[in-house]
Amino acid sequence: MKLLVTGGAGFIGANFVDYVLKHHNDYEIIVCDKLTYAGDMERLRDWKNNPRLTFYKVDITDRNSLREILSKEKINSIIHFAAESHVDRSIQDASPFIETNIKGTQILLDISLKHNIEKFIHISTDEVYGELGLEGKFSEDMPLNPSSPYSASKAATDLLIKSYIRTHQLPAIIIRPCNNYGPWQYPEKFIPVIIYKAMKNEKIPVYGQGLNIREWLYVEDCCNGILEIFEKGKIGEIYNLGSGEERKNIDVVKTILQIINKPESLIEFVTDRPGHDFRYSLETKKVKSDIAWKPSYSFEKGIEKTIQWNLENLNWIERKILFLRDLWEKVYR
Ligand code: NAD
Repeated sequence: MKLLVTGGAGFIGANFVDYVLKHHNDYEIIVCDKLTYAGDMERLRDWKNNPRLTFYKVDITDRNSLREILSKEKINSIIHFAAESHVDRSIQDASPFIETNIKGTQILLDISLKHNIEKFIHISTDEVYGELGLEGKFSEDMPLNPSSPYSASKAATDLLIKSYIRTHQLPAIIIRPCNNYGPWQYPEKFIPVIIYKAMKNEKIPVYGQGLNIREWLYVEDCCNGILEIFEKGKIGEIYNLGSGEERKNIDVVKTILQIINKPESLIEFVTDRPGHDFRYSLETKKVKSDIAWKPSYSFEKGIEKTIQWNLENLNWIERKILFLRDLWEKVYR
């Protein structure tokens, strides 16, 4: 089985590549990644020089290069992670989100049809549904109601894929995971930022009063879920991939501070993000009944492992933070 994994040098993509190569000897993987600020081959260091992994530095909006790769490699299926993924950046500048997330995906869809790809797995997000109040859950058939340019670009892509399934019989499945956390997450995202700042005794910025609620899925569970859906899921379906582990942001911060033994006085409430969704929560009956998938990590177990990984890889985190500060000053100041 030869898989093309787009965005395979990113946080979830690289964890997925690692998971598949470790657990399934019969899979070969071709990674296509542009290596934006968020991509890093360091995440795939354990598979460097391994013949089961081939890497192409390529932009998914580059139709000709993708065509060449698909003509050369005999690819069975595509798992599509590549995206601009940070909500705050999409508020600063939506253009790269439209280019990569919508246009890039459309190019991949066309090429998938041309090369008779057996399955196209699209990694969407719970954010396409918009926000919930304290009650209720999102099921797969609910209307999309995105709030940020990031989630709007992902929702647009979901609709585009649905149209290719209906019109062109593209053999696709859409997966909507909730918030991921775990090893190799870029330290501009909520959990690694808290861990880093707490370790450095720096103030920890929390939007509003920290009352927003997210559902947290340990990245290894997400990767296992994606592979299970790829192997057993029904073509044309949408699957929510949630953990049921809902936490208020402020409680996530307090849990991390407690584990690494730092004071709550580090918490600093800052002006809320515009359009900040209050709560996400996924109904996961479908993935449980069709695939018999369930996550194996509780939030407590996953966060312990994540903190441990961040402590052991402080050099990598530090390099990323310095690079980010530099980039931020060049681009936005
Ligand atoms: P990430 O930002 O860590 O990684 C994205 C990867 O895509 C990077 O390696 C980057 O170099 C690559 N990329 C970006 N633009 C590209 C382009 N034009 N061509 C080729 N490669 C390009 O993102 P992530 O957190 O790993 O998320 C992966 C996917 O999962 C995304 O589609 C995201 O929307 C979705 N998702 C993420 C989460 C989460 O909590 N992280 C939750 C639900 C869904």
